[in-house]
Amino acid sequence: MNKIDFEGIFKKLNKWHENLCAAQNGVGGVRSNDPSVTTIAELYRSQPWAVLVSTILSLRTKDEVTIVASKRILKEAGSPELLLLMKEKEIEKLIYPVGFYRNKAASLKKIAQILLDQYNGKVPHTMEDLLSLPGVGRKTANLVLVEAFDKDALCVDIHVHRITNRLGWLKSKNPDETEMILRELMPVKYWKRINYLLVLYGQNLCRPVSPYCSKCVIKQHCECNGVDRSR
Ligand code: SF4
Repeated sequence: MNKIDFEGIFKKLNKWHENLCAAQNGVGGVRSNDPSVTTIAELYRSQPWAVLVSTILSLRTKDEVTIVASKRILKEAGSPELLLLMKEKEIEKLIYPVGFYRNKAASLKKIAQILLDQYNGKVPHTMEDLLSLPGVGRKTANLVLVEAFDKDALCVDIHVHRITNRLGWLKSKNPDETEMILRELMPVKYWKRINYLLVLYGQNLCRPVSPYCSKCVIKQHCECNGVDRSR
C-alpha cells in the first residue's frame, strides 16, 4: 500500500471522537463512553495498582462489567497488602461475573504477593517486570504502561488488530504480531493513543461483523481487507 497518512487518519479519528462525546453528553470532551481501564484510571488518578487490577479484570469481559467489578474489589483491596488479607473466595465473589473470575482471583493473589516480596508493594514500570507477573501478557503490560505510567507503549487488543488489518496497514495473524509490525510502522507519537481510539471505533463503527463502512470517517484510507459484508 501507499505511504500511510497517520497524521490525517488520527486527525479524523480524534474529530470523530470529539463528536461522539458531544453527541453522548451534550458537551465536547466529557467521556462517559471510555473503555473500562481508562475509566478506572481516571477515577483512581492513574494509581498503578488500580490500573493493573482493572486491566486484568477487563480481559474477555465487557466494559460495564469490568468497571463495576473493579470498583467493588478496589473498595475492599485498594493495595496489594489489603488484597492479601482476603481469601481467594472473597475475591472471586467481588469480581464475579468477569470472565475467568476464578483464575483472575488466583492471579491477583499471586501478583499481590510478588509485588510485596520483590517490588516493595509497588507495581513495576517496565515491560519485562510486568510480563513476569502471572496472568499478565503483552496487552495488559502495555495498557498498564500507558494508563498508569504515561509511557509510550503500544497496546494492541483485538480491535486494534482487526482494524489495522482491514485498513491494509499490515497482515498479521494475532495481536502480538500486529504489535511488533506496528512498532516498526507507526511513529511513536501515535502509540499511546491508538488503542483508545480504535477500541472505541471498533465498538461503534468498525464492528467485527458487518462494519458501518458507509458512516466511516477514514473510509478513503481503508482497503477493507477481509470485509465481506458491511453496512
Ligand atoms: S471502511 Fe469499514 S472496514 Fe475500513 S475502517 Fe472503516 S468501518 Fe472499518
